[in-house]
Amino acid sequence: MRSRAALICRGSSLLPVLLAFSLAPVTANAADKLGTLASRPRWSVLEHYQQTITRDEFANLVQNVYCTHGIPQDAITVTDDSARILMNSESQRFFALRFAPNEQSKKRVPRLWHPAKQLGSASASRPLAGLRIALDPGHLGGKWARMEERWFKIGESAPVQEGDMTLRVSRILASKLRRLGATVSFARNELGPVTPMRPDDFRELARTILIKNGVPQPRPEALNENDPEKEQTIKWQSEILFYRYSEIRRRAVRVNTRLHPDLVVCLHFNAEGWGDPNQPTLTDVNHLHLLVNGSYLEGELEFDDERFEMIRRLLSRAYDEELPIADTVANKLASATGLPAFQYPTTLTTTKVGTSGYVYARNLLATRLYRCPVVYCEPYVMNNREVFDRIQAGDYEGTRDVNGVQRKSIYREYADGVADGLVDYYRGARDLKH
Ligand SMILES: [Zn+2]
Repeated sequence: MRSRAALICRGSSLLPVLLAFSLAPVTANAADKLGTLASRPRWSVLEHYQQTITRDEFANLVQNVYCTHGIPQDAITVTDDSARILMNSESQRFFALRFAPNEQSKKRVPRLWHPAKQLGSASASRPLAGLRIALDPGHLGGKWARMEERWFKIGESAPVQEGDMTLRVSRILASKLRRLGATVSFARNELGPVTPMRPDDFRELARTILIKNGVPQPRPEALNENDPEKEQTIKWQSEILFYRYSEIRRRAVRVNTRLHPDLVVCLHFNAEGWGDPNQPTLTDVNHLHLLVNGSYLEGELEFDDERFEMIRRLLSRAYDEELPIADTVANKLASATGLPAFQYPTTLTTTKVGTSGYVYARNLLATRLYRCPVVYCEPYVMNNREVFDRIQAGDYEGTRDVNGVQRKSIYREYADGVADGLVDYYRGARDLKH
């Protein structure tokens, strides 16, 4: 069964792989407790952040943004002048982060991305000049859409494939942003994976994970699409290792080592549980929300790599930039789409942040791994009746009648909302005339 939350790729917690069986995770190295396909944390990098943050600022970000669900024993201990961060629980090694005594004595935060304030001047007509934006169209699309469970089809109509739709929005958005002065790159710019790996490359790892999680003799594949034990097969596990973990980690390498953007915008469409993809349930529910990184679960903070990445992200102050961008984009997307704010059914995994009412902190693989501000957009419920009709209508110029209202194509409406939000934010933050 799909839950609505399951449709978003929370990639950190091994949710489908490990928590589904509520058992201990696989460790890739005896000394480190690592998440799926994670590499070992390089704690020495944090030396560059000594005395770049005050105690108050650190404590505030820990309490209200990153560790809103509590902290495992000894993982992070804040004293008057430093924080003690667990590097490795087996060896009980800790990293000592020294605070700046006060605001005036803070050292410069080392980072490769530029906040709006450091972009320099721009004309009012090109408010994004000098800004490097990477667009990350969610999922793979194309022939992979069924495997990644981002596919449904009603009768003879064209299948709905999220990965195709996000790429379409990204290309429309890219040309808009370029006209506004931005340098735009893509984390993915074709239908299909960025990772060179394929599901078969992960069969052994899938088997190991399943055995460690209490499935002593994993079956190669499911009996059929409705097999309740589908997720405990080698096929299903090796596929998710491919299209989620390997793929998003590969995109992160591309973003962090080649693209070096000042901002990543992740583009998705949301959905409500649709059941059988060949006979999907349609709904009248429709909504919008955006995500920024934060709200780590205690179980996630047990992983050495996730704890490290969280601290590095916190220290980079990506949040100070991505939160106001997310709020501004949310407001413009809300007026472009007319969508109400999505409310998560529980507060167990997310924390509402910001001022717009549309933005949540959540620890997704993409929002955690891209080392710069990241805004993750989740407008539209794909199996909403009206949204489905608009997807079937495809892209078009101008407006058409949709249930008595003149609307742009769903792709242009989405792209325009995001572009308007970015213009609004950067004009304001760079102090340009409107
Ligand atoms: Zn998605």
